[in-house]
Amino acid sequence: EERGPTITIGEILVEIMATTVGDGFLEPLSLIGPYPSGAPAIFIDQVARMGGSAGMIASVGNDDFGRLNIERLRKDGVDVSAISVLDDKPTGSAFVRYRADGGRDFVFNIARSAAGDLRITDRAEALIERAGHIHIMGSAFAIPGMEAIVGTAIASIRSRGGSVSFDPNVRKELLSEESRVLIDRLLHETDLLLPSGEELLIAAGIDDEVSAVNALMAFGISEIVLKNGKAGSSYFARGAARVDCPGFIVEEIDPTGAGDCFGATYLTCRRLGIEPARALQFANAAGARNVTRRGPMEGVSTFAELETFIANTPTGA
Ligand code: ATP
Ligand code: MG
Repeated sequence: EERGPTITIGEILVEIMATTVGDGFLEPLSLIGPYPSGAPAIFIDQVARMGGSAGMIASVGNDDFGRLNIERLRKDGVDVSAISVLDDKPTGSAFVRYRADGGRDFVFNIARSAAGDLRITDRAEALIERAGHIHIMGSAFAIPGMEAIVGTAIASIRSRGGSVSFDPNVRKELLSEESRVLIDRLLHETDLLLPSGEELLIAAGIDDEVSAVNALMAFGISEIVLKNGKAGSSYFARGAARVDCPGFIVEEIDPTGAGDCFGATYLTCRRLGIEPARALQFANAAGARNVTRRGPMEGVSTFAELETFIANTPTGA
């Protein structure tokens, strides 16, 4: 039984995509968008779609890119009262083009946009004071002042018996000494860790899976859920057997947002008391369903949609 909303803090963006596969943006291209985006926004939208109580602290500009995001989140049931609308900065944006090798080229406007200007308003404080869970994304630490805001929010939520999840969401090449220290500090505050692929090893600073899981459990983490793309996901917990859940077989149209939909679904299931094996299955379904739609937030799912998807989609095992 959940106590108080799940909240996220971080970037809201629009995503604008090239309609053709290729390298970069060096000549005129056909583009499609704007689509609502930003990892924490996708996450919290998926929590709300599943009927979970959900709120977000973020900033957008006073422009259509901001309005389309707020309207989407509101329509899907997210508490948008702590999203600030700034008059002096535009809404953040990401232009993306997929390369033939499966990689992506980006043009970002985040750091100097509203997305990079988080403000702890009275409304944000009020949301934190009601929250029962906070989900933190590694990517959000690019925002100045994020560390202090997250620290305050965690302390408040913990003081009422709430919990913390963390998606480290970091690439090894981008891991500075400073972010390493931050990640270590957060790992000691985390109840549920949601790494993908080698992030598990990076987070632990250890080269094999079993030792990495044990080292992270020793920090006080109670559940680790490892995302493995189309191969599915695995669950680890102290004193419990590992659970592996095969991925669903789908045609991948747009991979962006899979990890966020997965994490939001797993967390929401667990907050509702659903056991880990079933939560993994719902989460795999949410990730797989999201990649079949173009646009990072266009494939978010209700419980009913996930049940239909699970009943009708083969898995890799
Ligand atoms: P992102 O690419 O959004 O950062 P991530 O790397 O955090 O995501 P992934 O492992 O790519 O996480 O995806 C999360 C989950 O979504 C997977 O564990 C899987 O269940 C599902 N998923 C992702 N891609 C596919 C796919 N191509 N086919 C089937 N399921 C998928
Ligand atoms: Mg991925």
